Amino acid sequence: MLGEVNEGFRYAQVRLSPARLSHCMRWFGTVTRADEIARAYATTRKAFGKLLIDHEGVGFMLAENLIDLQQAALMIDWCAGVLDTGSAGTTESSMAKVAVSEALFRVADRCVQIMGGNGVSRDTIVEQAFRELRAFRIYDGPTEVHKWSLAKKIKRDTLGPSRHD
Ligand SMILES: Cc1cc2nc3c(=O)[nH]c(=O)nc-3n(C[C@H](O)[C@H](O)[C@H](O)COP(=O)(O)OP(=O)(O)OC[C@H]3O[C@@H](n4cnc5c(N)ncnc54)[C@H](O)[C@@H]3O)c2cc1C
Repeated sequence: MLGEVNEGFRYAQVRLSPARLSHCMRWFGTVTRADEIARAYATTRKAFGKLLIDHEGVGFMLAENLIDLQQAALMIDWCAGVLDTGSAGTTESSMAKVAVSEALFRVADRCVQIMGGNGVSRDTIVEQAFRELRAFRIYDGPTEVHKWSLAKKIKRDTLGPSRHD
């Protein structure tokens, strides 16, 4: 037996925050690569007489990718900083998991859209990134469960520990 009797649940909890952040980091890398592929496509493929990126609808999607990726990077960095202090980072990792998984999914979805039919083929990793990011919004706690947990904390912080269910 590893550790003490009745301590298993507490030991298991320790890995939660770093594991969430590891997922955020590896999917950040994957989606960054998908964005590079979409950029390359949009800057070489022409439609209706000009490069895709020169069509505002596509250029704006790439701009939104840039913004979402930067916000995701900042959330990851912030949460890693909290964990580095030795804190369990429960609240911060919940916030980061929701923000990063939702932002990266939006980026992956735009990459598919920018690449048209190629985006849903298996010729590049863009399709895989989209599929993996869809699942990441569910595992390690669905977005709604993290928000539910954050709402419970907000209620506790506002009403005090004795006034929550
Ligand atoms: C690809 C993949 C890999 C996985 N890997 C692992 C793993 O390695 N280890 C592991 O233990 N599990 C793993 N899981 C399981 C994963 O953690 C669960 O799928 C997840 O917790 C959701 O549980 P559920 O599927 O039973 O959905 P349900 O509990 O039925 O929830 C369905 C939906 O209801 C909503 N919901 C649920 N509860 C609430 C709430 N309190 N408030 C508001 N909305 C709510 C959410 O939108 C949720 O997506 C994995 C799942 C997937 C898809």
